[in-house]
Amino acid sequence: MWQQKWIMGNWKMNGSLASNQQLLLALQKPVSAASAQVYCAVAVPDVYLTSAKEQVRGFPLVIGAQDVSRFGDFGAYTGEINAQMLADVGAGFALIGHSERRQYFQEDNAILLSKLQHCLSAHILPILCVGETLAQRESAQEKAVVGDQLAILAELSATEVVVAYEPVWAIGTGKIPTTRQIAEMHQFIYHQILSLCGKDVKIRVLYGGSVNTKNAAEILAVPHVDGALVGGASLQADSFTAIIQAACAPAL
Ligand code: PEP
Repeated sequence: MWQQKWIMGNWKMNGSLASNQQLLLALQKPVSAASAQVYCAVAVPDVYLTSAKEQVRGFPLVIGAQDVSRFGDFGAYTGEINAQMLADVGAGFALIGHSERRQYFQEDNAILLSKLQHCLSAHILPILCVGETLAQRESAQEKAVVGDQLAILAELSATEVVVAYEPVWAIGTGKIPTTRQIAEMHQFIYHQILSLCGKDVKIRVLYGGSVNTKNAAEILAVPHVDGALVGGASLQADSFTAIIQAACAPAL
């Protein structure tokens, strides 16, 4: 998995038992066909973790969560789901610090650090999401902002680090950075991870933000882009399949 391209879907707050079943069934063939080259995963709402795990039995689609509690223990935290519970139902990973969590739930570095630590203790792979807003990009602060978001990695003793670079202004908007901007940020993120975590760390840096069937191949061919985190286009079997297939194709 550390050599493959990663294609991860983020279903956000979408789906139902019936529609999930249909979607996962339709992904069985393309995911299996791509499995030598592409590591495929979807982050589902927590209530569907168990049923989704059942539905992918027998084919290599990894099921994970979109978030985890900042609390690592059990007890009086109504509505929360801790990392041990995610591990208990077989979640393979959790997204941490998605921009929607940062925006609507005021998740800051202190909260995100505890989430990362709880994931690692529970053997759940955390995917740290980072990215700048449009105002930050327009004032040339993107590296400072993303550098600050990555800084919490220095507090961990992680041997494997997965980061999703998702410019906030590209999420769900249809706007994407140029391939040059993507290359520059991914190279920067690689450099930061190596200096924060040491040269032996295993790294995957995914791009996220309006990836679709038309732009996937070009984005996936950018240096230091190890895969994609896909929101809207992961909700339809046809579009998610086309993106998985783009990840199989030789670099442009
Ligand atoms: C996301 O929210 O992680 C995302 C990448 O969304 P979209 O692909 O819809 O822009």
